[in-house]
Amino acid sequence: MSLVHELSSLLPAARISTRVADLEVAAGDESACQPVRPDVVVWPLSTDEVSRVVGCAWTHGVPVTARGAGSSLEGNPIPVRGGIVLDLSRMDAVVEVHQEDLQVSVQPGIVYNRLNEQLKPWGLFFPPSPGGSSDVATIGGMVANNASGIYSVKYGGTREHVQAATVVTGTGHVLELGTRSRKTSSGYHLLGLVVGSEGTLAIATQLTLSLAGLPQGRKQGALTFPTEKDAATAIATMMRYGVDLAAVEFLDRRSIVALNRYRGFGLEEQPSLFLEVHGTPDSVDAVFETAQAVCEEQAGRVIVLPDGQNPWDVRHFTTRAIQALKPEGKTIRTDMGFPLSRLPEVVEHSYAIAERHGVVLHTFGHAGLGILHALLREDPADTQRWAAAQRAKDEMVGFVLSVGGTASGEHGIGLGSQKYVAQEHGSSLALMKHIKRVFDPKHILNPGKIWPDEGVDG
Ligand SMILES: Cc1cc2nc3c(=O)[nH]c(=O)nc-3n(C[C@H](O)[C@H](O)[C@H](O)COP(=O)(O)OP(=O)(O)OC[C@H]3O[C@@H](n4cnc5c(N)ncnc54)[C@H](O)[C@@H]3O)c2cc1C
Repeated sequence: MSLVHELSSLLPAARISTRVADLEVAAGDESACQPVRPDVVVWPLSTDEVSRVVGCAWTHGVPVTARGAGSSLEGNPIPVRGGIVLDLSRMDAVVEVHQEDLQVSVQPGIVYNRLNEQLKPWGLFFPPSPGGSSDVATIGGMVANNASGIYSVKYGGTREHVQAATVVTGTGHVLELGTRSRKTSSGYHLLGLVVGSEGTLAIATQLTLSLAGLPQGRKQGALTFPTEKDAATAIATMMRYGVDLAAVEFLDRRSIVALNRYRGFGLEEQPSLFLEVHGTPDSVDAVFETAQAVCEEQAGRVIVLPDGQNPWDVRHFTTRAIQALKPEGKTIRTDMGFPLSRLPEVVEHSYAIAERHGVVLHTFGHAGLGILHALLREDPADTQRWAAAQRAKDEMVGFVLSVGGTASGEHGIGLGSQKYVAQEHGSSLALMKHIKRVFDPKHILNPGKIWPDEGVDG
């Protein structure tokens, strides 16, 4: 029996497609990686359906790639080996709010902003909001990439909030991982392995997340600085002093210029920080004043955004604004993570490297977490500049790895950052490949990701 024919015995025909338009949507993501069409797309509605589809793929030895919204930036959901794309976007229900425990159980396809809208009446929220994709990213995709966001400075990334999950392994078996207990010392942390595994170990069909209470008091602000290094030094100092910031986002001067061009925000064209403080209505002013005092030591100056704009409404467009500067180009980006004290040095080095290679750099990110995105927008048709931008990226990542950092702070490895994995993980990469085989013996779950595709034994 053909694969599609067998899938038709598992799901209604309306939720299986081989139409070119559907295959095209499932082929790519938001990265510059080459899209690859799958053979078929399916839209399951339950754990049981996911288990049956994966079981069928296991029997046929056919690849299965989970997909949320396809907003990844490293090629993570691209089905490079074809096969089945399991689009989980229709599994988007809130299953149960455990208000007294500050937890929620959800299906994986629910979009981040929609979840928080539904949690608002309960006085709760799921904090790790991805800066520019909170309106599209699904919780399943966030868990699989271990995404983070503007509030991760105070509340942590996605991994810190995943309590329990129902998952389907590469054989189609259903496992319950984790518990709703806040703390456990029981057994291996299998749940922690699945979070951040980019759909290569198992497919999540239900997730229980820990939440935070909506803050009673909230204060936002923005500051400008004479140089990028001054802004970076201010962040590193605030974090070292333990200033209780909910969010501190760094935008270099070029990113601000790009935002002004893109939407006419009317921002002062200087390196900037956007801040937010959470607490009681009384406490937030005091914390903000401390932050301001630290920033002033680095010649930082509090500014009022034109027309009382919310900093996050502006920040949301950063990636798109930089892309719009060169519509014919594609983006080479870093997703560097590093010890916070090295932030000023990472910023300085990145500019020096870009200048040496003759390419134009834009930097921004959740710098309070020690994450910096450096974007190089170039036209791949200009092969010399494209190669120069690649070399600049390699050097920037090489530098953060040399100071104890990581090639991916939040976007995952996917396809785009594979060449750094061996250097970062050394001999433990072999153990990762063994673990993959235990969860997915036939290597059918999102094959070709995280490490270069020489197979699990390579
Ligand atoms: C403008 C812009 C700004 C962004 N800003 C941020 C940011 O601030 N922080 C950040 O972390 N990211 C950011 N991203 C990247 C992206 O939005 C996140 O990584 C997001 O979590 C991906 O979610 P998704 O639903 O689109 O997942 P997809 O891209 O569809 O999939 C992501 C990975 O998860 C796997 N997957 C999907 N669902 C499941 C499931 N249920 N079970 C198992 N595996 C699954 C896929 O196979 C794939 O490997 C940004 C992207 C854009 C375009």
